[in-house]
Amino acid sequence: MDNAKVLLPREIDLDKCITANARYDSARIELTDIPRLLESVVRVEGPVVATISFERDLNSMRLVKGTAEADVVLVCERCNEEFVQHLCLDFVLTPDYERAKACNLLEKYEFIEFTDSGKIDLYDIIEDGLILEIPAFPRHDEDDPACSREGSSWSYGEVAPEAQENPFAALAALKGNLKQ
Ligand SMILES: [Zn+2]
Repeated sequence: MDNAKVLLPREIDLDKCITANARYDSARIELTDIPRLLESVVRVEGPVVATISFERDLNSMRLVKGTAEADVVLVCERCNEEFVQHLCLDFVLTPDYERAKACNLLEKYEFIEFTDSGKIDLYDIIEDGLILEIPAFPRHDEDDPACSREGSSWSYGEVAPEAQENPFAALAALKGNLKQ
């Protein structure tokens, strides 16, 4: 990911990109350009990298297809320590809502809107998508030795009785254990 040298443009002209068969491979997005993602995590490690292509499909729908990846730092809900989560976003989007509606194809597509200047904002797509990829309950992998609750009396997949009744009681119990 460190080798991503090309900067992904923020706004593109979709018709031109389709005509030119444009494609961006492992293009970089500066973190300062995606502040909402930064606010949603502890921090982002390394660059956000995206691969994007443009095409017109068999229904004449204009498509923006791509992937985006980022390593973000989250706080584990089990052990309260930071860990790195790899986010991987995969998307196929079209701005052609009216056409899809007319062709009865609304179910088949996911839609994006043009900006006021008639462009597609790739950063918005990627930022929104990556934010949605952040797990609702961030945790280390079950077998990650870095998770400091590993080896304690609570095994993975097992919910402490206190936690079922009252999460704050469970937290108090955990803090009590730490003091001993
Ligand atoms: Zn953990």
